[in-house]
Amino acid sequence: MKYTQPNLPYSNDALAPVISAETIDYHYGKHEKAYIDNLNKLIVGTEFEDMELEDVIRHAKGALFNNASQAWNHIFYFFSLSPDGGGQPDGALGEAIKTQFGSFDKFKEAFEDAGAKLFGSGWVWLSKDDDGKLVITQESNAGNPMTSGLTPILTFDVWEHAYYIDYRNMRAAYLKRLWDLVDWDIIESRYES
Ligand code: MN
Repeated sequence: MKYTQPNLPYSNDALAPVISAETIDYHYGKHEKAYIDNLNKLIVGTEFEDMELEDVIRHAKGALFNNASQAWNHIFYFFSLSPDGGGQPDGALGEAIKTQFGSFDKFKEAFEDAGAKLFGSGWVWLSKDDDGKLVITQESNAGNPMTSGLTPILTFDVWEHAYYIDYRNMRAAYLKRLWDLVDWDIIESRYES
Protein backbone atom coordinates (compact mmCIF):
# COMPACT_ATOMS: atom_id res chain seq x y z
CA MET A 1 0.00 0.00 0.00
CA LYS A 2 1.29 3.44 -0.81
CA TYR A 3 0.58 5.90 1.98
CA THR A 4 -0.29 9.43 0.91
CA GLN A 5 0.00 12.66 2.84
CA PRO A 6 -3.49 14.11 3.32
CA ASN A 7 -3.99 17.77 2.45
CA LEU A 8 -4.49 19.95 5.49
CA PRO A 9 -8.08 21.08 6.07
CA TYR A 10 -6.84 24.70 6.45
CA SER A 11 -4.38 26.96 4.62
CA ASN A 12 -0.75 27.15 5.77
CA ASP A 13 -1.26 30.60 7.29
CA ALA A 14 -4.61 29.82 8.95
CA LEU A 15 -3.19 28.85 12.36
CA ALA A 16 -1.14 32.04 12.80
CA PRO A 17 -0.14 33.58 15.09
CA VAL A 18 -0.17 30.45 17.29
CA ILE A 19 1.56 28.43 14.54
CA SER A 20 3.06 30.43 11.68
CA ALA A 21 2.85 29.61 7.97
CA GLU A 22 6.63 29.11 8.05
CA THR A 23 6.28 26.40 10.70
CA ILE A 24 3.55 24.67 8.69
CA ASP A 25 5.71 24.93 5.54
CA TYR A 26 8.51 23.06 7.31
CA HIS A 27 6.64 20.85 9.75
CA TYR A 28 3.93 19.62 7.38
CA GLY A 29 5.66 20.33 4.06
CA LYS A 30 9.08 18.87 4.88
CA HIS A 31 9.13 16.89 8.17
CA GLU A 32 5.80 15.08 7.84
CA LYS A 33 6.33 14.55 4.10
CA ALA A 34 9.75 12.99 4.78
CA TYR A 35 8.30 10.48 7.28
CA ILE A 36 5.66 9.40 4.74
CA ASP A 37 8.20 9.19 1.90
CA ASN A 38 10.56 7.13 4.10
CA LEU A 39 7.71 4.86 5.20
CA ASN A 40 6.81 4.18 1.56
CA LYS A 41 10.45 3.33 0.75
CA LEU A 42 11.11 1.17 3.83
CA ILE A 43 7.92 -0.88 3.66
CA VAL A 44 8.51 -2.27 0.15
CA GLY A 45 9.11 -6.03 0.25
CA THR A 46 8.33 -6.40 3.98
CA GLU A 47 5.55 -8.39 5.65
CA PHE A 48 3.96 -5.03 6.55
CA GLU A 49 3.42 -3.90 2.95
CA ASP A 50 -0.35 -4.40 2.80
CA MET A 51 -1.20 -3.56 6.42
CA GLU A 52 -3.19 -0.65 7.72
CA LEU A 53 -0.86 1.99 9.13
CA GLU A 54 -2.08 1.32 12.70
CA ASP A 55 -1.06 -2.35 12.38
CA VAL A 56 2.37 -1.38 11.05
CA ILE A 57 2.81 0.79 14.16
CA ARG A 58 1.70 -2.03 16.48
CA HIS A 59 4.08 -4.61 14.98
CA ALA A 60 7.04 -2.99 13.21
CA LYS A 61 10.38 -2.15 14.83
CA GLY A 62 13.32 0.15 14.13
CA ALA A 63 13.30 2.60 11.23
CA LEU A 64 10.04 1.28 9.80
CA PHE A 65 8.26 1.77 13.14
CA ASN A 66 9.78 5.24 13.55
CA ASN A 67 8.63 6.48 10.14
CA ALA A 68 5.22 4.76 10.25
CA SER A 69 4.48 6.13 13.71
CA GLN A 70 5.74 9.62 12.86
CA ALA A 71 3.54 9.60 9.73
CA TRP A 72 0.48 8.66 11.80
CA ASN A 73 1.30 10.97 14.73
CA HIS A 74 1.66 14.02 12.50
CA ILE A 75 -1.60 13.40 10.65
CA PHE A 76 -3.33 12.94 14.03
CA TYR A 77 -1.75 16.16 15.35
CA PHE A 78 -2.47 18.39 12.35
CA PHE A 79 -6.06 17.13 12.10
CA SER A 80 -6.64 17.98 15.80
CA LEU A 81 -6.11 21.67 15.05
CA SER A 82 -8.35 24.28 13.47
CA PRO A 83 -8.32 28.06 13.06
CA ASP A 84 -11.79 27.89 14.68
CA GLY A 85 -10.56 25.77 17.59
CA GLY A 86 -10.22 26.54 21.27
CA GLY A 87 -12.74 26.65 24.07
CA GLN A 88 -13.57 23.56 26.09
CA PRO A 89 -14.82 20.04 25.39
CA ASP A 90 -18.36 19.25 26.38
CA GLY A 91 -20.43 16.10 26.22
CA ALA A 92 -19.01 12.83 27.57
CA LEU A 93 -15.38 13.95 27.21
CA GLY A 94 -15.99 17.21 29.07
CA GLU A 95 -17.62 15.22 31.89
CA ALA A 96 -14.80 12.65 32.00
CA ILE A 97 -12.17 15.40 32.19
CA LYS A 98 -13.98 17.09 35.10
CA THR A 99 -14.45 13.80 36.93
CA GLN A 100 -10.86 12.61 36.53
CA PHE A 101 -8.87 15.84 36.69
CA GLY A 102 -11.15 18.07 38.79
CA SER A 103 -11.56 20.75 36.12
CA PHE A 104 -10.61 21.56 32.53
CA ASP A 105 -7.94 23.96 33.80
CA LYS A 106 -6.38 21.26 35.98
CA PHE A 107 -6.38 18.86 33.03
CA LYS A 108 -4.64 21.47 30.84
CA GLU A 109 -2.07 22.07 33.56
CA ALA A 110 -1.29 18.34 33.86
CA PHE A 111 -1.08 17.92 30.07
CA GLU A 112 1.19 20.97 29.62
CA ASP A 113 3.37 19.81 32.52
CA ALA A 114 3.81 16.34 30.95
CA GLY A 115 4.70 17.97 27.62
CA ALA A 116 7.10 20.47 29.12
CA LYS A 117 8.92 17.85 31.22
CA LEU A 118 9.34 15.25 28.47
CA PHE A 119 13.11 15.04 28.05
CA GLY A 120 14.21 15.44 24.43
CA SER A 121 11.94 14.90 21.43
CA GLY A 122 8.53 13.29 21.61
CA TRP A 123 4.80 13.65 22.09
CA VAL A 124 2.40 14.23 24.98
CA TRP A 125 -0.84 12.27 24.66
CA LEU A 126 -4.34 12.06 26.03
CA SER A 127 -5.70 8.54 25.48
CA LYS A 128 -8.48 6.35 26.80
CA ASP A 129 -8.03 2.83 28.08
CA ASP A 130 -10.40 -0.11 27.56
CA ASP A 131 -12.62 1.11 30.41
CA GLY A 132 -12.90 4.62 28.94
CA LYS A 133 -10.58 6.05 31.60
CA LEU A 134 -8.47 9.01 30.43
CA VAL A 135 -4.69 8.74 30.62
CA ILE A 136 -1.98 11.35 29.99
CA THR A 137 1.31 9.85 28.79
CA GLN A 138 4.66 11.02 27.47
CA GLU A 139 6.19 9.20 24.50
CA SER A 140 9.78 9.77 23.38
CA ASN A 141 10.72 10.16 19.72
CA ALA A 142 8.13 8.41 17.51
CA GLY A 143 6.27 6.73 20.38
CA ASN A 144 2.52 6.14 20.21
CA PRO A 145 0.24 4.93 23.05
CA MET A 146 -1.40 2.43 20.68
CA THR A 147 1.62 0.21 21.30
CA SER A 148 0.52 0.07 24.98
CA GLY A 149 -3.08 -0.82 24.09
CA LEU A 150 -4.43 2.71 24.59
CA THR A 151 -6.68 4.65 22.19
CA PRO A 152 -5.17 8.09 21.42
CA ILE A 153 -7.51 11.08 21.58
CA LEU A 154 -5.23 14.15 21.50
CA THR A 155 -1.53 14.81 21.05
CA PHE A 156 0.79 17.81 21.15
CA ASP A 157 4.06 17.45 19.23
CA VAL A 158 6.98 18.52 21.45
CA TRP A 159 9.78 17.94 18.97
CA GLU A 160 11.68 21.24 18.57
CA HIS A 161 10.69 21.38 14.89
CA ALA A 162 7.08 21.90 16.06
CA TYR A 163 7.80 25.17 17.86
CA TYR A 164 11.35 26.45 17.36
CA ILE A 165 10.56 28.89 14.51
CA ASP A 166 7.74 30.56 16.49
CA TYR A 167 8.75 30.06 20.14
CA ARG A 168 12.50 29.33 19.97
CA ASN A 169 13.36 27.31 23.11
CA MET A 170 10.12 28.13 24.96
CA ARG A 171 8.28 24.84 24.71
CA ALA A 172 5.98 25.66 27.62
CA ALA A 173 4.78 28.85 25.89
CA TYR A 174 3.99 26.87 22.72
CA LEU A 175 2.03 24.28 24.72
CA LYS A 176 0.01 26.99 26.47
CA ARG A 177 -0.95 28.69 23.17
CA LEU A 178 -1.81 25.48 21.35
CA TRP A 179 -5.12 25.11 23.25
CA ASP A 180 -6.44 28.02 21.14
CA LEU A 181 -6.32 25.72 18.08
CA VAL A 182 -7.66 22.43 19.47
CA ASP A 183 -10.78 21.32 17.59
CA TRP A 184 -12.78 19.78 20.44
CA ASP A 185 -15.50 18.45 18.11
CA ILE A 186 -12.90 16.13 16.59
CA ILE A 187 -11.40 15.19 19.98
CA GLU A 188 -14.86 14.46 21.42
CA SER A 189 -15.72 12.22 18.47
CA ARG A 190 -12.46 10.28 18.98
CA TYR A 191 -13.36 9.81 22.66
CA GLU A 192 -16.87 8.64 21.85
CA SER A 193 -15.93 6.26 19.02
MN1 MN B 1 6.65 16.98 14.32
